[in-house]
Amino acid sequence: TQFRPQKLQSCIYRVISLLDSESTRLGHHIDFQSPEDPVFILMDQDKMLQLLLNLIKNAFEAIPEQGTVLIKLSVSGDDAVLEIEDNGKGIPDNELEKIFIPFYTTKDSGTGLGLSICHKIVQDHDGTIEVESELGIGTKFTITLPVHHSDS
Ligand code: ADP
Ligand code: MG
Repeated sequence: TQFRPQKLQSCIYRVISLLDSESTRLGHHIDFQSPEDPVFILMDQDKMLQLLLNLIKNAFEAIPEQGTVLIKLSVSGDDAVLEIEDNGKGIPDNELEKIFIPFYTTKDSGTGLGLSICHKIVQDHDGTIEVESELGIGTKFTITLPVHHSDS
């Protein structure tokens, strides 16, 4: 695996464009709020793309009709904070603790692997991932990743 300093914003724009036709087809919208300054992360770019794709695809699958996925990036101390929020069906409290377990799925044709892979990718990047959800209101995943400060 290749860990290199990369702009988190570039990665997010990349994912948004990868999902462009699917978003249009489903009538969903991805909104991205970001600080002006680039936020650098020491990352394996393919893994970071996979992390974001998995989370946004889950969000799309949770939104009954047309909906919005909000991606909000901020910096808090030495951490990049990435929130991915949908206005989908939400996750019941008793399921919240299971969603990161491999093969746990509530979908007819789900693999249940997406979030366990996300969890592993975040761990490999020395970050954390947390989830908050309200039934019928939506779900928010919050990821923190250490900011890469170049020593030049
Ligand atoms: P899969 O998508 O194949 O079911 P995942 O590991 O990606 O597997 O997700 C596991 C389960 O977590 C899903 O089946 C779903 O019940 C729940 N889930 C994940 N993301 C969301 C979300 N944004 N909104 C509602 N439920 C979600
Ligand atoms: Mg999934």
